[in-house]
Amino acid sequence: MSGDLSPAELAEAKLLESHARAGRVLPLTLDAPKTAKPPRHWADLKASERVDAVLAAGLPRFRAAQIDRHYFASASDDPATWTDLPQSLRTRVAEEFFPRLLTPVRVQTADAGTTVKTLWRLHDGNLIESVVMRYGVPGVPESGPGRQRATLCLSSQAGCGMACPFCATGQGGLRRNLSAAEIVAQVVEASKIARLTNVVFMGMGEPLANYKQVLRALRVMVGDMGLSARGITVSTSGLEPRIRQLAGEGLPVTLAVSLHTPDDELRDTLVPLNQRFPAGDVVDAAHAYFAATGRRVSIEYALIRDVNDQAWRADRLADLLVGHGRGTGWVHVNLIPLNPTPGSKWTASRRRDADEFVRRLEKRHVAVTVRDTRGREIDGACGQLAATERATGAR
Ligand code: SAH
Ligand code: SF4
Repeated sequence: MSGDLSPAELAEAKLLESHARAGRVLPLTLDAPKTAKPPRHWADLKASERVDAVLAAGLPRFRAAQIDRHYFASASDDPATWTDLPQSLRTRVAEEFFPRLLTPVRVQTADAGTTVKTLWRLHDGNLIESVVMRYGVPGVPESGPGRQRATLCLSSQAGCGMACPFCATGQGGLRRNLSAAEIVAQVVEASKIARLTNVVFMGMGEPLANYKQVLRALRVMVGDMGLSARGITVSTSGLEPRIRQLAGEGLPVTLAVSLHTPDDELRDTLVPLNQRFPAGDVVDAAHAYFAATGRRVSIEYALIRDVNDQAWRADRLADLLVGHGRGTGWVHVNLIPLNPTPGSKWTASRRRDADEFVRRLEKRHVAVTVRDTRGREIDGACGQLAATERATGAR
């Protein structure tokens, strides 16, 4: 009976319908299924454990530092080429500490080869992906302006249990947590392509739901691989207690919080984890993270046409961020045009709505940028490559 409805009511009804159809409603999965552990690897061990392992194998302790230099500092993962180790030892070290964790399944490039996305198969057949983006490459305008830098976007879980309806990874559910070494291996592989200046945990998975392994991997990246903590961004859909825990680790990585809307009513559906940890509590924890680390927090906000991109929502977002005397200096809003998943009823915001959203935040002196959408033609967003591969049965 749409003829009885005013245009405004019709629009509202269509909107509700599209909300309902946008994604399957999946249950939240906070704990990963128990699966066989990946084989033990050098990068699963803390520095002291590496020395212990070397001693236990009957080798002198200096071998640990040698192996560290090859794998962590030089991103060389083939012990056969480590000529400062005796030949016989190379084979033993390879067998004992360097099982193959990642096998490339498919490599896609975009932006004149400066964006490289790899789909990896894990030892048990699960799939993950990572993306390397190089910027400011001389002579390659497609790589964008500015100084030369390179960012790796990596995965922390195979799949994700957080069930966000706009996210391809979320729609596939959670397969398992990655081990620390599986996370580090993505960094090592990427370092073969580019000298990394940044690493973002924005591939598949909710990093703070795999807290222990992610922390181990972070300590290796900062302590052993020489990456700067501030160049590493851990992105979370809002596991409030874990944000508070991370603040106390003495590891000042950059925190990104995927807020996507300031109000609990909508956030309960966009980010189902909000039903456990509401937006206000998550923002409180994010501010506490800033207070503890001095690191400015990023608020991620995917702009979805007519769903979360209204001007009044920008005002409410500003209220939430600067409220409770928090001010503006602690936070930066990253607006990301939605990259629609196949079959999704949702799409990116109109240009004018996005512009107005920015204007409203700027009026309140909230720092805001619209994130670039590198690699869009190769489904650069979260988990879409693996989703395509699953659908076509490539495993
Ligand atoms: N699970 C973590 C990190 C991985 S997702 C998190 O949610 O923060 C990385 C970012 O990609 C998040 O901000 C997420 O909301 C965003 N994202 C997921 N699907 C997207 C899509 N289809 N379009 C735009 N951004 C998306
Ligand atoms: Fe998981 Fe992040 Fe995707 Fe949500 S947006 S389902 S938390 S990967």
